[in-house]
Amino acid sequence: MQLRGYLARFGEAVREEGVGPCYAGKNLCNVDSQGNVTLCIDRLDEPVGNLLTDEMSTIEERLLTAHRRNECRSCWTSCRGAIETLMYGGDLLPNLLDYHRMTREVALAG
Ligand code: SF4
Repeated sequence: MQLRGYLARFGEAVREEGVGPCYAGKNLCNVDSQGNVTLCIDRLDEPVGNLLTDEMSTIEERLLTAHRRNECRSCWTSCRGAIETLMYGGDLLPNLLDYHRMTREVALAG
């Protein structure tokens, strides 16, 4: 199960120019097990800060700077594609329905 708007862009994603722009650093980021923050899972060697040692406002500012400089279009992974589909892809209601169908009940411990 996936968002229909996300799946619809795979033809674009396999072309040389890829899907752009990428909103990593603005709408999503990656945090590794050591607290290092990067634009995404493919930028682990370019941390903008660390949750354990840097102020959140500093990390946020660096993420936005990295986002503005980023011209990468080399992936269309679901961590990027789902949020971009919901925020910018149009057809919000059908995509929200797909998103809801991707969820499942989780029993709360009690
Ligand atoms: S296109 Fe993919 S690999 Fe490139 S910065 Fe964006 S999320 Fe990372």
